[in-house]
Amino acid sequence: MPELPEIWNLARQMDETLRGKRIAKVEIKQPKCLNLPPEDFQKLLVDKEVQGASSRGKWVFLKLSPGVTFLLNLGMGGEVLYFKDEKNLPQKYRLRVDFQDGSLMVINFFWFGYAHALGDQELPEHFPTAVLGMDPMKEGEFTLLNFKKLLKGKKGGIKAFLMDQKNIAGIGNVYIQDILFTAGLHPNRKIPSLKENEVEGLFKAIGEVLKEAADLGGLAYETDLFNRPGRFKDFLVGYREGKPCPSCGLEIKKIKTGSTSSYICPSCQK
Ligand SMILES: [Zn+2]
Repeated sequence: MPELPEIWNLARQMDETLRGKRIAKVEIKQPKCLNLPPEDFQKLLVDKEVQGASSRGKWVFLKLSPGVTFLLNLGMGGEVLYFKDEKNLPQKYRLRVDFQDGSLMVINFFWFGYAHALGDQELPEHFPTAVLGMDPMKEGEFTLLNFKKLLKGKKGGIKAFLMDQKNIAGIGNVYIQDILFTAGLHPNRKIPSLKENEVEGLFKAIGEVLKEAADLGGLAYETDLFNRPGRFKDFLVGYREGKPCPSCGLEIKKIKTGSTSSYICPSCQK
């Protein structure tokens, strides 16, 4: 499942590759993933020029001119693939966007995802993206001060808090494992029990784990805009049940935490 590093990387590639291209046509095979009837969706996108792409959390924002945003969320998994021409196009896709220069992009969701198009004036009311929290890749926004403010007065467990997209955008059940291990925190630790140095360590761990994965192009089992796999595969504790903890050597355990699974070192994450 793609999380912040994969989506950040995808948006960066889309920005470099698609900027300046004008949309010629849009083919829709799965209307359920749209926010509009297919004809309205097509009308909004066709003949618009790509001004740039960015991301917040797990959402890609493709800015189109004049005045339209094309939003993508790959949900539990999916791919956005770019092709110079039609030659090597996959058979299966949910959405296909052709550009006027003959290049194209196909979008596929493995489970369920979203492709939304809206006028810029509607963007502040676009519920799923308007409520997204801080994005750890945005340096001026994801600061220790803002992170401390966010945690202030909050109750509940730290893992559920970090995975709530309204608090921090982009962390899912993949990267959270190594973030909590790096910070030395058990997933069920209650927020009010966190000491100042633990909050600081957690803030640092979020930035480090996500940036390292982003620099490596994301997870090895996800693919980028050009269908190349990421290079991040060396988890510290994530998905390493029964293997030794990289810090103390004790066996890594898989435990249930609410509705999700967690991988922890029972000694390093008490
Ligand atoms: Zn350990």
